[in-house]
Amino acid sequence: MLKDKIKAAFNEPACPTNRAKAAKERAKGCAKPLTPGAAAGGCAFDGAKISLQPITDAAHLVHGPLACEGNSWDNRGSGSSGPDIWRRSFTTDLTELDIVTGQGEKKLYKAIREISQRFKPAAVFVYSTCVTALIGDDIDAVCKHASSKYGLPVIPVHSPGFAGSKNLGNKLAGNALLDHVIGTHEPDDVGPTDVVILGEFNLSGEFWMVKPLLDRLGIRVRTCVPGDARYLDVAAAHTANVTMVVCSTALIGLARRMEERWGIPYFEGSFYGITDTSESLRRLAAMLVERGAPADLIERTEALIAAEEARAWARLEPFRDRLAGKRVLLNTGGVKSWSIVAALMELGMEFVGTSVKKSTVEDKMRVQILMREEAHAFEGMAPRDLYAQLKSGGADIMLSGGRTQFIALKARVPWLDINQERIHPYAGYDGTVELVRQIAISLGNPVWDEVRTPAPWDNEGRLTDRHVSHFTMDDDSDAADPTFAARHRRKFANSRVDNTDPEYLAHHRKKFAGRDADDIGDD
Ligand code: SF4
Repeated sequence: MLKDKIKAAFNEPACPTNRAKAAKERAKGCAKPLTPGAAAGGCAFDGAKISLQPITDAAHLVHGPLACEGNSWDNRGSGSSGPDIWRRSFTTDLTELDIVTGQGEKKLYKAIREISQRFKPAAVFVYSTCVTALIGDDIDAVCKHASSKYGLPVIPVHSPGFAGSKNLGNKLAGNALLDHVIGTHEPDDVGPTDVVILGEFNLSGEFWMVKPLLDRLGIRVRTCVPGDARYLDVAAAHTANVTMVVCSTALIGLARRMEERWGIPYFEGSFYGITDTSESLRRLAAMLVERGAPADLIERTEALIAAEEARAWARLEPFRDRLAGKRVLLNTGGVKSWSIVAALMELGMEFVGTSVKKSTVEDKMRVQILMREEAHAFEGMAPRDLYAQLKSGGADIMLSGGRTQFIALKARVPWLDINQERIHPYAGYDGTVELVRQIAISLGNPVWDEVRTPAPWDNEGRLTDRHVSHFTMDDDSDAADPTFAARHRRKFANSRVDNTDPEYLAHHRKKFAGRDADDIGDD
């Protein structure tokens, strides 16, 4: 059954890569054997949980060993405007003894009971993991039974880590929503301007920079999945008139199947950058009017765009001189690979490269158009190559996720987090201004001059004159000075080893021999 689900998730007609294949190849889907380490960026379970956990009034129960769960509270910065139950760690904490004695299903049932009675969530999502999938726990049956017993939705999510990568887990999460959640609640306030946003995680609360714009236009976000979503709103998503897909790799399949099942048209858009925010608002308005919304929505949208763009450009003006001509290396993926490029190029910044990992064919075409013939779009750059490019002075700043930050820091190049762990919101007009402000702050931070100053020792490890004179009592003033600083300068000077002693140096060279720098490149 899991095999069929995985095959269906990968055989996605809305995926341009899949569309480009011959019919026979397409039938096989994209599933391929995992290579060792393939889950290093997150396993399928991780991907599914990331895609569903920001549904804030639900409990997210991990059925497996404690280690799969990790710490839910602070590992991703999706914002909630209300409930916080989603951030708690719920796990059945299976041990070897439970596995050997076949206690898995019983423990799962008891955990659902405890959660429903103590926390009264709107729903419980139950995630299978490697261990519980391998021992064959029937989480469907347990969820169904617990659901009828405790009178709340209990949704099984089949996403064991061994099934594949984080990206596959995103798709399996979409399947769980479609199979068990969307379409199960009929709201009594359906309106002509209801929309669904898919693949928006509300990281650092950034969707809240966009939602007020939609509110001003009278466009109601029935649900934003998963960022700051409420369970019942997700269950009513089938009543919306338009779907906007923000992160296409994660939930495009869900959008397509919602169109198939309920006739809701979808489009892929972005709220990063001024131009793309405006374009997304235009598309939403035009599609809603086609589906019966008042015709003046288009006019009002244009008026709002004109006012907001003018305001944003006025706020960006003070940064223009500081940022013009600065070279950026962008190591991200998906829509950010072009939408951030567009926003920063409008300020005169240059791009030495952008990663198009996880980007669709349309994303890649937009990168090409934006960066023209000098475009340097790369699928993925080895850490060593990234380091070499930064070290050689190819870029003034790198924008990327936290995993590559140490490459930039080692190369002594400013770095800004633009992926999921970021702490500043970058969506919409105000978010674009914030992004530019953060880039300016990072570039202008005096620490970069400090760290680029040559080290106060030579290649042999001997302290240079400048440094020695700083710590040596070269006059009598310290001797007479009773202050704390002076006492410590004297102590250091007295206890300092003789760094010209050949025996001492030979000993230390031997001690550190064979401990070269890691694979991100060494001078
Ligand atoms: S689900 Fe499997 S791969 Fe993922 S964290 Fe748990 S044991 Fe590891």
